Amino acid sequence: MIIELNRTTIDLSALVYNLRLVRSMLRHDVRIMAIVKSDAYGHGLTQVSRTLEANGIDCLGVAFVYEALELRNSGIMTPIVVLSGIQTQQEASETVSNNFSTFIYDLEMAEFLDHEAERQNKKAAIHIKVDTGMGRLGVMHTDVVPFIKRISGLKHLDLVALASHFSCADNCESDFTATQIRLFRKVVEDVRSLGYPLPLNSIANTAGMVGHKDSHLEMVRLGISLYGGMPSPNFILPVSTRPVMSFSGRILQIRDLPDQTPISYGRRYYTNGPARTAIISAGYADGLPRGLSNSGSVLIAGKRRPIIGTVCMNLTICDITGMDEVREGDEAVFLGSQGGETITGDDMARSAGTISYEVFCSLGKRNKKVYIS
Ligand SMILES: *Cc1c(COP(=O)(O)O)cnc(C)c1O
Repeated sequence: MIIELNRTTIDLSALVYNLRLVRSMLRHDVRIMAIVKSDAYGHGLTQVSRTLEANGIDCLGVAFVYEALELRNSGIMTPIVVLSGIQTQQEASETVSNNFSTFIYDLEMAEFLDHEAERQNKKAAIHIKVDTGMGRLGVMHTDVVPFIKRISGLKHLDLVALASHFSCADNCESDFTATQIRLFRKVVEDVRSLGYPLPLNSIANTAGMVGHKDSHLEMVRLGISLYGGMPSPNFILPVSTRPVMSFSGRILQIRDLPDQTPISYGRRYYTNGPARTAIISAGYADGLPRGLSNSGSVLIAGKRRPIIGTVCMNLTICDITGMDEVREGDEAVFLGSQGGETITGDDMARSAGTISYEVFCSLGKRNKKVYIS
């Protein structure tokens, strides 16, 4: 028999719980675009989207057209917004025929989409992406009114919203987010005065939604809070979301080693006195950050134990000195709960010097997922 030692579990009931929780933080008329890009942050695009759809999500946001198509092909009927726009003829054609909405950030893309919509005798819904300080995709906020005047002749586009994105809403000390909100609201007002109702404007991500009520507007775009993570490891959410993903391996070997034994590549750790170590069946190839070397922890027999030495491709070593009850084959939890202890994505991210988004994406990508609800 061949067995899978490592296990990635996705708790869909936690996802539903988190959706209810974030909804309770919003005015009743604010819509939620659930962000499901990158395989729903590693949690599984179709399973997550089906669950959100069954729980009344207003729309789904993906990065690329191929993700939107995957959703439609798996029977998802909820409105879908493509956040990174369209690049090719085929993408334009699929966008129009499947009624995807798309973010638009340049004139050529707008003309291209309009042309395709005309060919199919339809209207394509667009959100214009506005740069208010992210310095990434978008039309500079000062250029939006001229941009709209230039696309006003494109009769097969339906401008439903402006959208912008925060660059540092996870930093509560910064007042830059307030500046971005002010610039965005101003440009929304200017475009409305040209006669566009703009019923679906959005700027807030999770961090902005939490820290800035005046950013909610007509719609918020939420990702990480639905998956039970924080916008950055030390961010404080006023409500307690539940982790959705967990990841565990198994102990392959337990060893009793003398004082001053080097551990793993580079001998970056030496035992300090006689020590018992557990060698666990997962490493960076399984999506664990290599930054956990000598810094993260793992749950064994319900206790939090330190990772020692360098994390290897498929193995990680941890110190279990004094734990006589542990056996080879026992479960070792890198992410999730065991006994009364929990390691969250943000705990892991803090140890590894990254953010929970990256932890979820890489664990989710590298492992087969088991869904529970
Ligand atoms: C990923 C993304 C979001 C979601 O951000 P969270 O911090 O996960 O809530 C919102 N808007 C855009 C444009 C994004 O790319």
